[in-house]
Amino acid sequence: MLNTSETLNRVSESSTIKMAQLSRDLTAKGIHIISLSLGEPDFNTPQHIKDAAKQAIDSGKYDSYSPIAGYLDLRQAICEKLKRDNHLEYKPENIVVSTGAKQSLANVFLSFLNKDDEVIIPAPYWVSYPEQVKLCNAVPVYIPTTVDNEFKMTAAQLEQAITPKTKFLVYSSPSNPTGSVYTREEIGQFVQVLEKFPHVYIVSDEIYEHINYAGEHVSIAEFPSMKDRTIVVNGQAKGYAMTGWRIGYIAAPAYIAKACDKLQGQITSGANSVAQHATITALLGDQQPTRNMRDAFRKRRDLVLDLLKAIPNIKCNIPAGAFYVFPDLSAYFGKYFQGECIKDADDLALYLLHEGHVAAVSGAGFGAPECIRFSYAASEDNLREAFKRVKDALAKLS
Ligand code: PMP
Ligand code: GLU
Repeated sequence: MLNTSETLNRVSESSTIKMAQLSRDLTAKGIHIISLSLGEPDFNTPQHIKDAAKQAIDSGKYDSYSPIAGYLDLRQAICEKLKRDNHLEYKPENIVVSTGAKQSLANVFLSFLNKDDEVIIPAPYWVSYPEQVKLCNAVPVYIPTTVDNEFKMTAAQLEQAITPKTKFLVYSSPSNPTGSVYTREEIGQFVQVLEKFPHVYIVSDEIYEHINYAGEHVSIAEFPSMKDRTIVVNGQAKGYAMTGWRIGYIAAPAYIAKACDKLQGQITSGANSVAQHATITALLGDQQPTRNMRDAFRKRRDLVLDLLKAIPNIKCNIPAGAFYVFPDLSAYFGKYFQGECIKDADDLALYLLHEGHVAAVSGAGFGAPECIRFSYAASEDNLREAFKRVKDALAKLS
């Protein structure tokens, strides 16, 4: 039998993907699971985007390999989007389109990290950041935050975490899993720190840009001193309900884009050609469906926060974006169900799945072992039923 590589052994399985699979397995057995595990919009992709894909197929122009970094007209459309939405000037040579933002991130890390380089990651974080960093034999350095400060790092914490070995700071705003959104003022404070440390580059994951209830989305690349040190990561999955289409991209200085292009050319080549063409329509066509989805998510957020109030002994921030709630459920750790101790968030997530028939994700993989993440990208009826089940299941613990 083959032993898995040391590289693979350094990496944990994605807990979001694992929970989603467990939930699918139970559903396949005929159990009615409400899945709030995987972070993906429950809406269909807007019709005009699907139509663009159908036309692309029928035109016969998209049957071949695309350029590795993506079609020129798509990269131009991304530049237009970045100017329109983010006041950022880029040229097509600054853009690399990939098979999802997950690949965009992996491209950056694999292209630039050496053994023992440090990557600063404010916790809680999206599960794949530290694992991708470990894949590169580099070292994640966490900045702890708590529910009491809305899970936001401070500029002082950032300054303390920087060492001569720091290569990147990576964060998402709006954040998965906390929903926290950094304001212009807060980002400005990070910039003041980062200006003192020119060797640190920023990976700014903006994939939840359009699911923001706080108002303004601010990219750190908008600060002139940061533009040449920032890799903006974005993608179609969340704001355009296109998770399965697998389109993500970076905007970065040309030499960084070139490096990612080289790497991607040895791994996947260009992203799916039809999905690339449809993405032009998504980015430059009607943006109202995206705004409508955001408004629906906001309504559900308010509903879920209300439903959570009925559950005793939990602490939850008010997420300002994304589509997750991330309550602290540690008051239930150490309780028992039928003689079995629920020791931690992993046990509690499994208990909620098997007893409550609600799939959610343990906070452990997100760097917050006291929390559980529930996605509220589900119908209002399902959300009402799910949180009733959670409440009933928690009430059975003693
Ligand atoms: N970043 C964050 C914060 C995410 O939640 C996700 C979820 N999929 C991704 C990146 C990756 O997105 P994609 O589906 O485009 O690979
Ligand atoms: N990003 C989503 C999540 O956090 C999708 C799953 C994944 O890629 O991790 O659940």
